[in-house]
Amino acid sequence: MQAEILHSFHPALEHQEFEIYFQPKVTPCTGAISSAEVLVRWIRNGQILWSPAIYIPLFEQNGFVISLDYYIYGKTFQWLQKYSDTLPEHFQISLNVSPLHFEQPQIFIDKIQELLRTYQVDPTHLTFEITESTYVNNTDAVNQVIRSFKQYNIRISMDDFGSGYSSLNTLKDLLFDEVKIDRKFLGDTLTENARIVLQEVFHMLKRMGKSIVCEGVETQEIADFLQNEGCNEIQGFLYYRPMCQEDFEKLILK
Ligand code: C2E
Ligand code: CA
Ligand code: CA
Repeated sequence: MQAEILHSFHPALEHQEFEIYFQPKVTPCTGAISSAEVLVRWIRNGQILWSPAIYIPLFEQNGFVISLDYYIYGKTFQWLQKYSDTLPEHFQISLNVSPLHFEQPQIFIDKIQELLRTYQVDPTHLTFEITESTYVNNTDAVNQVIRSFKQYNIRISMDDFGSGYSSLNTLKDLLFDEVKIDRKFLGDTLTENARIVLQEVFHMLKRMGKSIVCEGVETQEIADFLQNEGCNEIQGFLYYRPMCQEDFEKLILK
């Protein structure tokens, strides 16, 4: 299967088999959609082919993910250009960033600037999600990108926080605007200790002025807890699953 996936990549890119899906995030107290994360889907003959959880790690090993990411950014910017006048004022669209881009951060910065110019996108609608492990392994390169993006008012979110690399040291000098708490941190049910850890982490992040997003929320019990603790946004199957462009447009542009 790995060989087939790798072999299929370039023809798939050429035949535009990669599409952007959107998973809305909501404001806990109102349930209103406040932003969305763009997730890649590989579609052939109207069907989802493989999960990104399977092919993204493969494309990270051989470098294909770089061109896939740029393709997804291009599609998303094109979408933003089309709907910029109809979107709610502070609506954010988040994009995933592969760790590979930080091997040559200036090339990444230049490429994003070029895409912004090509599609004339208002950069204040954009949030880039960089994982905590990427940050831990490439702190200087990530900070270089964040500093450059700040000039454009592009937001940066720390993705997968608490999925295994967390250390208090990570938080100390954090330039990120937002922290996205990983599903693994929340689990399916909240033990008393999990509640305590979350309350204290939220408290710290709030004092630092960071926005808090929780992802992978599937139960009302967890959503209620997060709302009580002042979580800014929730993403999860409890509210919305990732959906195709057409369904997302019907939902937010109605
Ligand atoms: P991620 O960035 O952590 O994205 C969130 C993943 O959690 C998505 O999986 C989403 O469908 C899933 N999810 C959302 N809500 C729930 C929930 O309530 N319960 C459960 N069980 N899962 C939930 P998806 O779309 O399969 O993507 C997997 C990973 O692939 C992403 O994890 C991200 O690391 C990567 N990925 C996806 N699109 C891109 C892309 O365009 N570029 C790059 N570099 N990576 C991408
Ligand atoms: Ca993400
Ligand atoms: Ca995540």
